[in-house]
Amino acid sequence: MRGAVLYGPGDVRYDESPDPTIVDPADAIIRMSVTCICGSDLWPYRGLNPTTAPAPMGHEYCGIVEEVGRDVSSITRGQFVIGSFAASDNTCPHCRAGYHSSCAHREWITGAQAPLLRVPMADGTLVATTEVPPADLVPSFLAVSDVLGTGWFAADAANVKPGSVVVVVGDGAVGLLGVLSAKQMGAERIVAMSRHAPRQKLAREFGATDIITHRGDEGVERVMELTKGVGADAVLECVGTQESMMQAIRSARPGGSISYVGIPHGVTLDAAQLFFTHVHLHGGPAPVRRYLPELLQLVQTGSINPGKVFDLELPLEQVAEGYRAMDERRAIKTLLRT
Ligand SMILES: [Zn+2]
Repeated sequence: MRGAVLYGPGDVRYDESPDPTIVDPADAIIRMSVTCICGSDLWPYRGLNPTTAPAPMGHEYCGIVEEVGRDVSSITRGQFVIGSFAASDNTCPHCRAGYHSSCAHREWITGAQAPLLRVPMADGTLVATTEVPPADLVPSFLAVSDVLGTGWFAADAANVKPGSVVVVVGDGAVGLLGVLSAKQMGAERIVAMSRHAPRQKLAREFGATDIITHRGDEGVERVMELTKGVGADAVLECVGTQESMMQAIRSARPGGSISYVGIPHGVTLDAAQLFFTHVHLHGGPAPVRRYLPELLQLVQTGSINPGKVFDLELPLEQVAEGYRAMDERRAIKTLLRT
């Protein structure tokens, strides 16, 4: 088959890669309906993560089960399935506590920007829909796999509740779906920090009540103005830089909660400074598997339409252009048709 392979910074190619096979009897092979490019794929693409090239790319997926290993019992051929970027057994103590992305047997998915994908621990990792969904719903199901699951965790980990005042730092696809998630959880006021008109528009569609275009000190000042000097109950940090993290911490009220779901790059925190803020911090790779049944239901019933974050659609052959468009912020998120 051919899929996306990263050879070095800025060099992603649609290239030959071996067809996946059942390696372990608990594996499944799925035929991708659609796949996409993640904001986190841009870190290695920009040379900011060490990568062993050539590296097959992609970890967001949904599709039809093509083959299962002999130990797979709940997932069967022909089902439409969705899974998370972290394969998990769904049975170990960490999974039972809801932290599937820290599963004792966790395997990171890679190579999903391709027509076929091997999914380990298929019974634990994958969730099947009751029937194969119509084509127009498929992008929203794909979004559940990571970007919505991560935005949802961001809102949940920041303890968003009915009536909450929420600030979302970061207007990438995860931040935008953090807005949608906070809205679903009943937030009363949702402030999106964004400088980009198309992203502001989508944030408003997803439920943002206010937009702040400033960053850093000025951004914090605007949050304080909007909240009459109190600060936000919940802040979703969806970037992963020092500036965004500090902005998030300083935007929260004493006792407020901050979630952080952008992979931190060069972020250091001062414990003494944190001590006097009284804030709660809760982040990490989102345990998307925990939320899959609920989120699939919301998509199935048309209650949410997270697929709207895909503002560029390309055939998989043009994956290099998909990365460029996201790198240059011409696209929020690229959907790839296999
Ligand atoms: Zn587990």
